[in-house]
Amino acid sequence: MPGDLIPLADARSRVLAETAPLPSERVPVDAALGRVLAEDVSSPHDLPPFDASAMDGYAVVAGPAAELAIVGESRAGRPAERRLAPGEAIRISTGAQVPAGADAVVPVERVAAGDGRVEVPDTEPGANVRRAGEDVRGGEPVLGAGSDLGPAEVAVLASLGREQVACGARPRVAVLVTGDELVPPGRPLGPGQIRDSNATALAAQATRAGAHVESIEHVPDEREPTVTALERALAAADVVCVSGGVSVGEHDHVKAALAAVGAEEAFWGIALKPGKPTWFGRAAGALVFGLPGNPVSAMVTFHLLARPALRALAGADPADTRARAVLDAPVHLSPAREQAIRCRLEAADDGWHVRPTKAQGSHVLTSMLGAGALALVPAGEGTVPPGERVDVELLSPGTLSA
Ligand code: AMP
Ligand code: MG
Repeated sequence: MPGDLIPLADARSRVLAETAPLPSERVPVDAALGRVLAEDVSSPHDLPPFDASAMDGYAVVAGPAAELAIVGESRAGRPAERRLAPGEAIRISTGAQVPAGADAVVPVERVAAGDGRVEVPDTEPGANVRRAGEDVRGGEPVLGAGSDLGPAEVAVLASLGREQVACGARPRVAVLVTGDELVPPGRPLGPGQIRDSNATALAAQATRAGAHVESIEHVPDEREPTVTALERALAAADVVCVSGGVSVGEHDHVKAALAAVGAEEAFWGIALKPGKPTWFGRAAGALVFGLPGNPVSAMVTFHLLARPALRALAGADPADTRARAVLDAPVHLSPAREQAIRCRLEAADDGWHVRPTKAQGSHVLTSMLGAGALALVPAGEGTVPPGERVDVELLSPGTLSA
C-alpha cells in the first residue's frame, strides 16, 4: 500500500474524470423502466388533446337553469356527431369530448331527465370540463435527458404517444472474485474456507445501479489465471470489478496482473475506512476497480466509486445519493481516514437522522442490513457528538423523494 492515500472526494473526481456517457440506444418504452433517458422529450400535442368531460352528465351552453332538449350523445372515444345549440343538451361520459358549441358539463346527479328532455341548474362556463392542454401544452418540455425512468416517467412517455425513447446504454460489468478460501453457496465448507459473498453483493449492486452483469468469474490466487481472467473480463465489459487480492500480501496477484495487461493506474489507496486498499484505473478501454476483499469494504467502495461511474456511463447524475442528516449517536473519529459508517436512516421533524446499525468491522457484513445510508465522517481527533449534521450517501437512491 502506498503511503500517500488520497481523499475519497479526490478518488471520486478521478473516477468521474475517466467516465463519459456510453452511446445511447433506442429502447421500447415498455422495456425502459430503470433506464436513463438520453433525449429531451416534449409533448407532440396538448394533453388532454381536446376539451373533455370530467363527469358523466350533460354537455350544455353555460347559463341559468333551464329545460333542454337532449339531441345526442358523446361517449369516451366516440364524439357527438353534431354541434350543440342553445336550448340543447348532449349526454356525455367522463373523458368524452365536449361537443362544439358546449362550454360546460352538468353532472348527472344534478339533473332531472326524462322523455328526451333534461332540467339543468345554473351553470358556469368551464364547469366540469378538462381543458385541452391543461396537463401539458403541445411543444412543452416534459422530461429531460438524464432523467431516471421510473413508473411515472414511462407512464408519461406512453401518454405522449412514445413507443420508443433514446436511453443511455446499460454499462456492461464483469465481476472477478479472487480468493482460494472462497466457496460459493451450495457447496460444503472445508477447513479454513469461507463463503463468497462478494460475487453476489457486487452483481446485485451493479444491477441496482442500472448495469448489465456480463460475467462473474472466480479466480484462484495465482498470477497466470488472474491475468487470463482479467483479459476475458476486459474484452466483455465496460467496467471490471475485481474483488480481493489487491493488497500487498504474497498471494495478492491483482496488481501484478493489472500491470501485465497494461492497465494504467489512476489511484491505489484511499484515506477511507473501510476501503483503504482500493485500486482504480483503465485497461483496454474499460474502467477497472480493484475492490478490497472484505465484504463491507467491497460494498462500500463499490457504492462510493463504482456506482457513480456506472451512473455516469449510463448518462445519469452520479451524485444523486448525496444528502445531509443529523447524527444521533457519537462517532469516534479516525485520525487519518474518513469513515463510511453504515447507518439506519430515519425521518424526524427536523429532517433525516442517522445512527450506526451495529459494530462496524469491515468483515461484519450484517452491518449492511437495515443500513439506508453511509454517514461520511471526516478524519480527525476525538468524537463527533450526537446532533451534528453530516454528509450521507444514500444506499437506496430515491429514498429522500419517496
Ligand atoms: P483480500 O482483499 O483478498 O486480502 O481479502 C480480505 C478479506 O476479505 C479476507 O478475510 C478474505 O477472506 C475476505 N474475502 C475476500 N473475498 C471475499 C469474498 N468474495 N467474499 C467474502 N469474503 C471475502
Ligand atoms: Mg484474498
